Amino acid sequence: MDPNAPPLFFFHPDHPDFPSGKKGALGEKGKALVEMAGLGAPVPPGFILPARFCVEFFQNGGTLPQPALAEVKKGLQQLEAWSGNGFGDPKKPLLVSVRSSPPQKIPATFTTVFNVGLSESVVNPLAGSDDDGRLAWDAYRRFIAGFAVNVLDADPEPFQVKLGEALEAADAEGDNELDVSALEALARAYRGLYEEQQIVLPTDPLEQIALAIAAGFRAWAHPAAEAYRRSEGLEELAGVAMVVQVMAFGTEHPQGGAGSLFTRHPGTGERVPYGKFLPIAYGSDLRAGLRLPEEITELEKRSPEIYRELGDWAGKIERHFQAAQEIHFTITADGLRILRARSAERTSRASLKIALDLVQEGVASPAKALAGIDPAVITELLHPTLDTSAAEAPLTKGMPASPGSAVGQVVFFAEHAEELAAQGIKTILVRRQTTPEDIGGLHVAEGILTVTGGLTSHAAVVARGLGKCCVVGAGAIEVNYHINEMTVGEVTVKRRDWISLDGNTGEVFLGELPQVQPSLGGDLAKILEWADANRTMGVQANADTPEDARRALEMGAEGIGLCRTEHMFFDIERIPIFRKMILAVDHIGRSAALAELLPLQRKDFLEILRVMDGRPVTIRLLDPPLHEFLPKGIRSQTRIAKSMGISVEQVQRRTELLSEINPMLGHRGCRLAVTYPEIYQMQVRAIVEAACIVTKEGIPVKPEIMVPLITTARELEFLRNQIAALVERVMDELGEFFPIPIGTMLETPRAAMCSESIARHADFYSFGTNDLTQMGFGFSRDDAGTFLPQYLESAILQQDPFISLDKEGIGAMMRLAIENGRKGNQDLKVGICGEHGGDADSVKFFHKLGLDYVSCSPFRIPVAKLAAAQAALEEE
Ligand code: PEP
Ligand code: MG
Repeated sequence: MDPNAPPLFFFHPDHPDFPSGKKGALGEKGKALVEMAGLGAPVPPGFILPARFCVEFFQNGGTLPQPALAEVKKGLQQLEAWSGNGFGDPKKPLLVSVRSSPPQKIPATFTTVFNVGLSESVVNPLAGSDDDGRLAWDAYRRFIAGFAVNVLDADPEPFQVKLGEALEAADAEGDNELDVSALEALARAYRGLYEEQQIVLPTDPLEQIALAIAAGFRAWAHPAAEAYRRSEGLEELAGVAMVVQVMAFGTEHPQGGAGSLFTRHPGTGERVPYGKFLPIAYGSDLRAGLRLPEEITELEKRSPEIYRELGDWAGKIERHFQAAQEIHFTITADGLRILRARSAERTSRASLKIALDLVQEGVASPAKALAGIDPAVITELLHPTLDTSAAEAPLTKGMPASPGSAVGQVVFFAEHAEELAAQGIKTILVRRQTTPEDIGGLHVAEGILTVTGGLTSHAAVVARGLGKCCVVGAGAIEVNYHINEMTVGEVTVKRRDWISLDGNTGEVFLGELPQVQPSLGGDLAKILEWADANRTMGVQANADTPEDARRALEMGAEGIGLCRTEHMFFDIERIPIFRKMILAVDHIGRSAALAELLPLQRKDFLEILRVMDGRPVTIRLLDPPLHEFLPKGIRSQTRIAKSMGISVEQVQRRTELLSEINPMLGHRGCRLAVTYPEIYQMQVRAIVEAACIVTKEGIPVKPEIMVPLITTARELEFLRNQIAALVERVMDELGEFFPIPIGTMLETPRAAMCSESIARHADFYSFGTNDLTQMGFGFSRDDAGTFLPQYLESAILQQDPFISLDKEGIGAMMRLAIENGRKGNQDLKVGICGEHGGDADSVKFFHKLGLDYVSCSPFRIPVAKLAAAQAALEEE
């Protein structure tokens, strides 16, 4: 808290002492009001209690401290002076609204209280001064109900019932049709509810306002509000500001009413007037939806001058905020009053058009325009979408694991996909789940559909890497591999039947639906150029092959943050050699197979290093459990037994020996290197030899060696010593010398907790948030699809933690690991290479954590860049 900050912030369009100073504590609503008043916009005057009052409220045991109350009184005196009305004065009462103004957009926890300052002794004289008393009694009945529900926590339902009864008795459609006597009767009926619910309506206006402000502060501490802030990593937000503002009545004049105007069309982004207007109403009536509002263009016919004035102010306000705005206004007996402006909600496509237009029209700087683009639009723009307008209901639905769409003939085996692809036929590979053996089919299929598996299952990760549409966890499908059929309920789909996948929704359709190709080349490039100029966090790619590396560069990657070496072994030529290595019973057999693999592995690295031309390439040593590479079916087992000159039984025995009950927590990652050191030795030799050769060619190289799944400092120290010694030996042999940083994936909870000691042996960390989420939650990456949808439906979880990082838990582990890691090694470079590296919301969080870079699949790089830039701009 800034102890020198002014206690209250006043806003008034004509106020000569318009305050300057820090506005951060005013909340979004408050800040916009102060700025609009500064522009001279017709904002009803008011004042703001900055968020520190909220902090003091809780420090004071949940009551407003005396000095705070004294400030509120001063504020009211200023409003009295400006308005010429007196707070509690029965002849000319000052009535105010009390609203909360959170620091950023968060779900509402407090509803505005209107007409504070009214009481029985004020409403009668007020009604007497009014034309027919309608304004006064309408204001009073609203105040009584609002105060009961929003301040005194009364049950809202009986109040709604009373309103319903009043409407029925008056044969009225809306409350605007209730006459003064009906409104007075309604007020009395509401008062009766106070007695029934044993609550007391204070008559002292100062007590009313103190209670209303306190209710706003209490709402900030509501468990739902706290849970939301926790889940969004917003715990550092100190409190909520409160706005007290002179009431503006849209009910006091036949031409009056309330409306909202968007400065650009929220659906298309076009610069056309869009909005709603409700005659004789409060703004809250419009949002409550009790009556049908008119289109905003009707207002031009009703009140052309006000419509013009509104349009002028909308333009000025949009220019001031450099963003499309949604403006809430009221038309009072004295004319137009603007009550609120905020960044307009809009579709993702509209957000892109608006950003480009605002810059072109000179309204916004590129940096400002960038802030208004929904990163989701970038994903849409990079992939074809499915046109489902004429489609029948979907056959079934799974989880959308990789965006875009795919249309093709169903195949159930990877080999069939390859056979048909050779004939130029498009396919969709449908499997219960995919394994590394299916890689050939995954490469050629248009899309992938699996019955089981979650969003970081094998199919999902590979599809995202390939930029292919993928739907996983479509549990309603039953696959019968024997007869090449699948069924969903009564419907049977045979091999070579057409289906269409929607990777944005997870829907699966029968038949061949049309696809809409993306088109936005130049515009997207422009937006990414702006993003690059504004972001501070690096963006790298997860890329495993030279083709991936080329694609990564095309998509704007600044390096490779994760090269998963296992994918190199899935190649059709290599997998037999790799299997030979796994099936070998001793060190000699393993070394012989690895010697065969060395030149192949070196070739991959050579090409990747050449393509990346001096950019960092982080190569991760082997990670998955070995049995993943072994053939499951008897046919392939026989084939491999023959090629190795051993019996099928021997293959089966070895496979059985290697199989694990819980492989993801089993013999994988660096544990493989402890038991089979020769595997990492071959890989390290291949990396260093390749780097030396490329250096000799005159091409700069920046390889980094990354060890997966470290859990203890000693484990990394042990492996690092071996790796470093070999690096030195190979460099000596080849006569080239350059640094090769050695780091680790940070992906087990224990490693996160012991980060300081681990960092002493690491040059860099890359968070493996897929595994960290899996192990942190104890949710299997491959099986969570069976229960996660239910968790989301029941709102036990707000988001799938494998898609959007769980900031509260996994994020807390990361924060601790970074802080302690930098204590252990102050030069530690820290990045993340789990799937969250391409999720906009997670990327923004990573920026806040102070990560040096994120790494994601090439197709998600534009999204990561935009999100990184937005996070940097938000910080400013
Ligand atoms: C991770 O765990 O986040 C990671 C990147 O590694 P993998 O997905 O290969 O386990
Ligand atoms: Mg991992």
